[in-house]
Parts: sequence; structure tokens; C-alpha cells
Amino acid sequence: MLIAEIASCGAIVTDERNRIHMSANNVRLQAIADVEAYVPPAPSFALDETPGDIFGENVFNLVVMQKRLPKSVYKSVVATIEHSKPLDPLVADAVASAMKDWALEKGATHYAHVFYPLTGFTAEKHDSFLEPSGDGSALAEFAGKTLIQGEPDASSFPNGGLRNTFEARGYTGWDVQSPAYVLENPNGNTLCIPTVFVSMTGEALDHKTPLLRAQQAMAEHAERVLRLFGATNPDHVVSFCGPEQEYFLIDRHFFLARPDLLNAGRTLFGAKPPKGQEFDDHYFGAIPERVLGFMMDTERELFKLGIPAKTRHNEVAPGQFEIAPMFERANVAADHQQLLMTTFKTIAKKHGMECLFHEKPFEGVNGSGKHVNFSMGNSTEGNLLLPGDTPHDNAQFLVFCAAVIRAVHLNGGLLRASVASASNDHRLGANEAPPAIISIFLGDQLADVFEQIAKGAAVSSKGKGLMHIGVDTLPILPTDPGDRNRTSPFAFTGNRFEFRAPGSLQSVASPMVTINTIMADSLDYIATALEAAVEAGTEFNSAVQDLLTEIITDHGAVVFNGDGYSDDWQIEAASRGLKNLRTTVDALPELITEEAMTLFEKYKVFNRREMHSRYEIGLEQYVLTIGVEARITHEIGATSILPAAVRYQTELATNLGALKAAGVKGDTAALEEVSAPLADLRSALADLKAGIEADAGHDAMEEAKHYQSVILPAMSAVRAASDVLEGIVADDLWPLPTYQEMLYIL
Ligand code: ADP
Ligand code: MG
Repeated sequence: MLIAEIASCGAIVTDERNRIHMSANNVRLQAIADVEAYVPPAPSFALDETPGDIFGENVFNLVVMQKRLPKSVYKSVVATIEHSKPLDPLVADAVASAMKDWALEKGATHYAHVFYPLTGFTAEKHDSFLEPSGDGSALAEFAGKTLIQGEPDASSFPNGGLRNTFEARGYTGWDVQSPAYVLENPNGNTLCIPTVFVSMTGEALDHKTPLLRAQQAMAEHAERVLRLFGATNPDHVVSFCGPEQEYFLIDRHFFLARPDLLNAGRTLFGAKPPKGQEFDDHYFGAIPERVLGFMMDTERELFKLGIPAKTRHNEVAPGQFEIAPMFERANVAADHQQLLMTTFKTIAKKHGMECLFHEKPFEGVNGSGKHVNFSMGNSTEGNLLLPGDTPHDNAQFLVFCAAVIRAVHLNGGLLRASVASASNDHRLGANEAPPAIISIFLGDQLADVFEQIAKGAAVSSKGKGLMHIGVDTLPILPTDPGDRNRTSPFAFTGNRFEFRAPGSLQSVASPMVTINTIMADSLDYIATALEAAVEAGTEFNSAVQDLLTEIITDHGAVVFNGDGYSDDWQIEAASRGLKNLRTTVDALPELITEEAMTLFEKYKVFNRREMHSRYEIGLEQYVLTIGVEARITHEIGATSILPAAVRYQTELATNLGALKAAGVKGDTAALEEVSAPLADLRSALADLKAGIEADAGHDAMEEAKHYQSVILPAMSAVRAASDVLEGIVADDLWPLPTYQEMLYIL
């Protein structure tokens, strides 16, 4: 009906108005009422409990193994866990039997091989310990072969062309280094065994297999370098990872009233709240009581699972928080990270909240990342990225640091591709996370040392300073030799590099695979060059000196200590030849360049088919993600927002009509104000529908480009019109919880 027509229906009476309100069965208002009435649960544990008592309680760790395994078996397992020696298959039966007894004592009825398919989620296949004994009864059985290998149906996991559809077989294989654990659940406990997941041909269908391969490659070449520096028998070099996880918490009633959050993990609608994060009043602020309850509960669960939760604080955006467990061996850290996310989701529900891991759940407020802290070391040398007080004369450290500089310079595109996803595209380069240009921050002290090296040799290191606070009663504090830089994607932070571009939702395995592989390549290059120089009779120290100068001259362009968020950097980076791969569609082709495939093949991390499969799956996931978002955008726009706006329009028109009937001249401005964006919304919805129904092409890249260039803008247009309406339509008719409600009511 045209506005004029509606307005002329003057005879509509109060009954009709009531009917309009009654029919506005408003989930949002109901959610607000429910939030107000909600009483959070009391702490589920004694407050005097000491964390040390429960740490690792549910883990089949070395302490438990030492107690329960025959000495020779224990020694053999330790050799695999601590020194990466191949697993002796003969010990599997003994380990399985001890593991089963321990798990049964912990109340487990089932065991599960846990694996990490390329969806980014965790998958588990549960089997009962019970096996029929033939006489009508059943016995608890768990043989070594069951521990070592499983065979879940792989047909429903993404494989990017690695399997034909008729070959559904996939195999899981025990990762001995990642400890098994009992996962408690009110409905039954399960023994969980972390595994790799591969196809019948041994090709990786998961995130863990390539990580184990890449760690092994990095270690091999790191050990070559250590031998050159005089270590006669270096212990196995381990890649460490400390993942910092950012997340949002919102009340679950609001979450359930937002089909976009429920299905897509992010809000596809929502006007910016009157108060955003501009006051910086949330960052490191006092943790709200209810959130603290959640944190205490999650940390306790993590402790039981042997996950060393350490740091927790509020983050920049309202409703946003961070947890940083202590760093661990990268494959263990990756498993623990996945387990942490599952635990957070479960416990948030228990506290009436929803934990959001999406990179950008709310537009206009900061998104969430997962900073991956990387270092490497072993028991004999310690941390290989530790500079000491005088890095200029710590040649071994400088060589490892130069290896990072070379690796990142040559492979910025691959690092970018390792964090590419539809959801992370919303965050990278949006002035809250590093730009898509991959550069390295070294800090004042190291930058200065490398500048000296570029000119020939480093002779001094800027030392630690002292900070006078100007208050007599306060001690003089030492300062670090370098400041922090929050705008750099790859920052040296004193004893490690922090890769800040990974998304909050993703597995840390994928960036760790890339980092370890490109480090293997750089360390191989360095070891080969030094071995050749020494062979040719060059004195070792001067060979090192020359090599460092060469590396910083050739690869110093990747070092940038300035403001990574600035526009100038975009221009400067381009002139330095650094890639700026803004979106997933730009980044994923990096996986299938000739150089990339040669690199990964050389270090036996991926073969070419595996690289192609990752590329295909990356595009497939991109299209699936945006596809879901597009359909939900249409559904909410058409079935929630449009009707609310129409109701309001009708109400205004009815009112005008009534006024007219009473002989009073009404003002049509409000009616026009709602009618314009309503018309925009209608046409944007039609465009979106057409985009969804259009033929997107049959090649994965073609399809991804359609979603990027047609669907995403069409979704934005629907949102723009809707967000305008949010500021116009009467509050009691608005159907979706607003940003203000979701972000500030906890
Ligand atoms: P930030 O100040 O950068 O937010 P946090 O304390 O939140 O730092 O987190 C730092 C992370 O870095 C933790 O997970 C910590 O365990 C990890 N970390 C510390 N030292 C190392 C190291 N040598 N190698 C890898 N990770 C490390
Ligand atoms: Mg932190």
C-alpha cells in the first residue's frame, strides 16, 4: 500500500493499534526481561582449593605413566615424548592397558580419537571400552593397536580433492607427544587421545599432520646450525607456541535472540551504540563479577586438563577478554588451544553466557585475534631466540634471528595465506589488527644491532635503561631495551616473535606449520652456507659475520619499526616490494605458486596435492561462510526487520489517518523518514536474493570472487538500510537486541 493510501485509512481505531502491538511478539524485549531475571550459578568449587592440587588431574602424563608403566616401557615412551625418537610399536599394548585402567578409574566409559579436520573444529569418534567376551558378558578392552590407530569415516570432512568420494577411509594415528586426557561431562566421561588424521594414501586431512612434519624439518636444520656453533650432540630442537586468545562474552538470552550470532557467529545487523570503546574504560578494567565466575570455572577445568592458563584480563572492546596460557611445544599448544575453545564455549553456557570466538562479532568495535608467540629451543641450549644483555656479541642468537628475518621476507605471502579466512578479512588492516602487509618489528636495540651488521659488524648493544618515576618512595625501575609495537604483524618481544595476524577462531596449527616450514628453509640455507664457508677454509666467526651482513642487506626490507596502521606504511611497503594481500581471495593463491609448492615439498610438509587441497578448501570455506551469512542476512532482513519497520510505518500512517479524521493536521515527516530506508531495504533484499540465486561459476576461485564482489556488498547494503531503520523505528517494535544491550549488559 502506498503511504498516501495508508494515511487515508483514517477510520482505523485503537483496536487495530493493539493488534499491531500484540502481533509484535518481541523476542528482544523478552530477552531483556530474561537477562534481568537471571541468577548466575554459585562457584562450583571450594574457594580454598589450591590450583596446584588439581593441575593435570585428568591427564595421562609422565607422572602417571611413571607410576603405572613397566620401567622399560616408560623409558621408551619418554624417549619419544621428550626427544622425538620413533615410537617402539611393541610398547603400545602396555601403554594402552595402563591408560585404560587409569581412565576407567576416572569414570570413563568410552575412548575417543580426537582429531583436527580442516574445518578448523575438533572432531571425536567415540567407542566404548566394552567388547563382548563371547559368553554373553562384556569386558573392558583397549589394545595397543586401538590406541595407535583408528578409522573414522572421512567422507564428510573437507579434503579438497584428496579423496575420491567412494574412498571414504580416513585414519587417525596417535600423537604420542600430546598427552591423552579424560574429558568430564555430566553425562559420562571419555578418554581422549589426540591423533593425526590422514587419508588412505597417507596424505594429511588435518592440521596436525603437517605441523608435526614442519616441526621435524625445522628441528633438523636448527640442529645443523647448533652443531656449527659447537654443540656436539644437541638435544632435539622443539618449536614452542604461546597462543593468546581474545574472545567476547555476551548474555546467552541476547545470543539466542540474534539468529545472525547463532548461525554465523557475528552480527550481520546493528547500529553503532551511542557509547563505543572510545573511553578506553574497559581495557584492563576490573573484571565483572559474573565474568570472573566464568574465568575461575574455566581455569579450573583447564588446569585439570593440564592446560597452563596463566594470564587473563579485559580487552579493548566492551565485553571482550583475553586468556594466555603458558607456551608449550607447538603441537601440544595447538591441541590445548582447541580444547580451550571447547571448554570456554561449554562453561560460558553454564554461566548463562555465550563465548564468541569470531574475529569480528560486532562492527565498529575491535575484533578478536589469536596472537601466536613463537620460539624454539632445546634442553641443552635453552631458548634460541634469547638475546642476552649484549645481543651484538651473541652470534648464535643473531643467526637465529636473521633466519626469522629472511624467512618472513621471502614468505610474507604464505604467512598471510596461513591466516586467511572470510572472518579474519574483517579484522586485518582495520586499524585494530596488523595490516595484511607482513613485516617484522625488531625494537630499538635489535634494529640498531642489525643496522650495524648491515654496515659491516656490530660492536655495541643499546643497554637497558633506568626509569625514574619522580616519586621518592617508588623504586627506580629498569626499562626494556625496546618498546612494544602493537601495530606490527610479526614483532620481536624480547625472547620470541609474536605473530599477531592469526584470527581468534582459527587453529594455531596453520600459522605454526608455515612458520616452522619457512624457518626450516632459512636454517637450511644458513647451515649450508656456513658449512660451505668452513669447508672452504673461512674462519667460522668471519663466515657468520659475512652471512649476517648478506641476510640483512638482502632481507632488511621486511624490518619496519614504525606505525603499521598508518597510510604512509601502505605506500612505503609497496615501494619495498612487500605484498599487501588484503583479502582471502588475494591471499590463497600464494599456496599454489611454484615457489610455495617447491618449498613445502622440499621439507616434506606437504606434497603438491596437499597444497592444492588446502587452497581448494580455503576457497570452499570462504564461500560457505559468506553463503551462510548471506542467507541469514536475507532471512532476518525479510522476516524480522522489514516487518518491524512496516509495523512502525503502519502505526505512523494510522496515526496520521486518525488525526486527519479528527480534523487535526498531522506531520508526515516521520512517515517519510521511515519510508525511505524501508524502500532501500526492500530493494537491497531483492539484490541480495538475486546475488544468492545467480550462477556463481563452477571453479572455486570464480565462485569465491562472486561472493566477494557481489554478495558481500549486497549484504552491506541490506545492513546499511537496516541500521538506519534501527535509529528510526519505535524501540518497542525493534526485534533484535541492540549493540548497546549485548555489549554492556553482563
Ligand atoms: P602480551 O603482553 O603480549 O599480551 P601475554 O602475557 O598476554 O603477553 O602473553 C604472552 C604469551 O607469550 C604467553 O602465552 C606466554 O606463555 C608466551 N611466551 C612467553 N615466552 C615465550 C617463548 N619463549 N616462546 C613462546 N611463547 C612464549
Ligand atoms: Mg596479551
